Amino acid sequence: MFTIEQCVMCGLTDVLNQTLSIPVNINGIVSVNVLGAKCANPNCGEEYYNSEDTEVIRQFEEIIKRQALLSRIKPMYLQSKEYQISSAKAARDDDE
Ligand SMILES: [Zn+2]
Repeated sequence: MFTIEQCVMCGLTDVLNQTLSIPVNINGIVSVNVLGAKCANPNCGEEYYNSEDTEVIRQFEEIIKRQALLSRIKPMYLQSKEYQISSAKAARDDDE
């Protein structure tokens, strides 16, 4: 947990630690909750995150995007694997 001494946006010293939702919006995941801090000024509301958390989320986004690409490739891969299995089975059936 980290402490923000002063809001960099409005200068208020009342920046409270709390759970924040970081919008992600990929693959049906709307947001990720992280521990952060938020400026108590209702006209400001600047949110502060741990840079490690935002890095994890960034990596998470990268993984999701990569998986989305892979899933487009997958059906062809599965098809060939199924073909390999069925042809292997056919070969075994021939032996019996
Ligand atoms: Zn502020």
